[in-house]
This record gives sequence, structure tokens and C-alpha cells, in this order.
Amino acid sequence: MFESLAANRTLKDTLAVMINGQRLSHAILLQGEPGTGKRTLARLIAQAVLCQGKEPRPCGVCTSCYKAEKGIHPDIIELGAEAVKPMSFHIDAIRELRQGAFIAPNESEIKIYILHNAQNMTIQAQNALLKVLEEPPEYVMFILLCQNRSSLLETILSRCVSFTLEPPDEQTCARVLTERKPGLSQEQYQAAAVEAEGNVGRALSLLDPESEEGERANRAWEAAQGLLKAIYSGDEFALLAAVSRYEKQKETFVQLLPCLKQMVKEASLKKYIAGHSGLASLPAVKEASSRLSALQSVKILGIIDVAVGRIRQNVNFNLVLASFCAEIVNSGK
Ligand SMILES: [Zn+2]
Repeated sequence: MFESLAANRTLKDTLAVMINGQRLSHAILLQGEPGTGKRTLARLIAQAVLCQGKEPRPCGVCTSCYKAEKGIHPDIIELGAEAVKPMSFHIDAIRELRQGAFIAPNESEIKIYILHNAQNMTIQAQNALLKVLEEPPEYVMFILLCQNRSSLLETILSRCVSFTLEPPDEQTCARVLTERKPGLSQEQYQAAAVEAEGNVGRALSLLDPESEEGERANRAWEAAQGLLKAIYSGDEFALLAAVSRYEKQKETFVQLLPCLKQMVKEASLKKYIAGHSGLASLPAVKEASSRLSALQSVKILGIIDVAVGRIRQNVNFNLVLASFCAEIVNSGK
């Protein structure tokens, strides 16, 4: 069960034991960064709690599971999904919830409310929710999702059992991506997983060329490959030309630096670890691996860090580019 959520082994095991032993609290709080799978997990918990099949639940085949999976179960009610801005989760929604909560479930023993973006509840909304959390109808269960529990009232937190979701490691993330978005190359999955630091939700949007984030990511990886080629060519003029292209595109340069760093890292790993997976199969990375010495790779990684630091400190951008170029040229000498 819960296999559609990546990583978080201990959390999933704990929940499974609680659900199968019917020892789940009536209020659960799932905390984690956007994209770590809070929504996936909340829906799985709801499905498992309402499942009419045998253990381990959710069985995935009973009528209740079918409805839950299709998002048409009348006793699973989701709210707050649109409340993505701070303080945009208003008391009206909670008032409605409170009225509904006192109506018995439609077809199950339990009625489950999933509250997205709980961190964006206004204080009034939180206080209204608190009232129903304090004395809930016995058939009601709440699953609160939030990015950071510190934005919730202590009184709410004290009534919830909290769980924190961690993003999976990059390898696991890449594997999940192959299942969720089939048809792309291993390099693309790996690059997105690295870029999103294992966060599956963010990686998925990076892989979606339609999304703004995806488009930006593609541009950054392509730009980084171009720059990497200029770096290992050892041709000072080519490097200068490649870098000066960014004089008026600071944002793109800022975005390509982490990609470039990752590629240089992979290139140097590839020297020592046979069959090392990941970005290593990109042509530019392969070439860099044979052309850059280990020492030069280390120097370049340092130079990238320095450039990132200078940009953060708001050093004149043209100066950043000029010294980046000069330092890269020196790294090969
Ligand atoms: Zn079931």
C-alpha cells in the first residue's frame, strides 16, 4: 500500500499499521514542501480508511477504492486547493465544512475532510476549525496539509497527529518520473530529478515543456551544455563569446549555473565510476569527462560557486561575467 508515494518508508509503514489496526487519529497533519506528495498521501489515507476490502488497505479493487481513486467518493471532501496565497483560506469555507460535518456520511462509516494549504488559513478560519476539531462528530476525520506547521495555531497542532514528508532521493525521484511521465529519455528524468532535488511534483512540472517552469528549465540545461562545450574546447575566444551572450540575460545565466555545476560534477565522476548513470550520458558531459582534468573540474566547480556568490551579493553583473571567463581560462593552465 501507499506505493504510489515515493520514499518516506517509515512514515508509510507507521500509517499502514495505524490504518490496518484502525488506530488512526481523527485529525492528521501532513507537513512538507510543495511537491513532496502531501496530496497523494492524503488521498491514499482517505482511500485506505474507507476501503471495504481486506488488509492491507487500500485494496484498490472494492467499490469504495474505485470511487476514491476516481475522485468521486461522496465521503471524501477536499477543500482549500485554490487557497495558494497566504491568508486566502477564509472562514466561509470552514463554516461550510462545519455545517457539512454534522451530516452523517453518505455511504461509509466515516467522512473525511482533506484541507489543502492549511498554512494559508486566516486566524478566524483556524479558530473556526478548532471548534470542530475540539468536538468533532465521531464519524469525521480531518487531514490537514501544510507546508510548514509553524503557520498554524498551537491549539490546532495539539489536536493533530503530525507527519512530515521528505522528498525522495534523486535516483528514486527519477524512477518515479519514468512511471508518471513515460516516453522521455533517462537523461531528462535524471536532470529534472537533480534540478528539483528529488521533489517529484516540481520535477514533473520541469518535465512539462508547456509549463513556464519546464520551459525555463529546458533553456537553462541547453544553455549550460553550450557553455560547457565552450569551456572544454579550451578556446578562449569561444568561451568569451559564449559568456558574453549573457550580458543582457542575467536570469538565464543565474539559472544555468547550477545545471553547469551538476554537469561538471557528473563529468568528473564519470572518470572514476564505470557505468555511472545520470547526466553522464549527455554528449557534452561525456566529452567534458575526457577533456577536463580532475583538477580543472574541481577548480571550475569553485569558480561557479564564486560566481553564484557574487551574483547574490549584487556585484556588477558584467564584472561577474568577465571574472568568470578569466578564471575559467586560468583553470586550464
Ligand atoms: Zn478497497
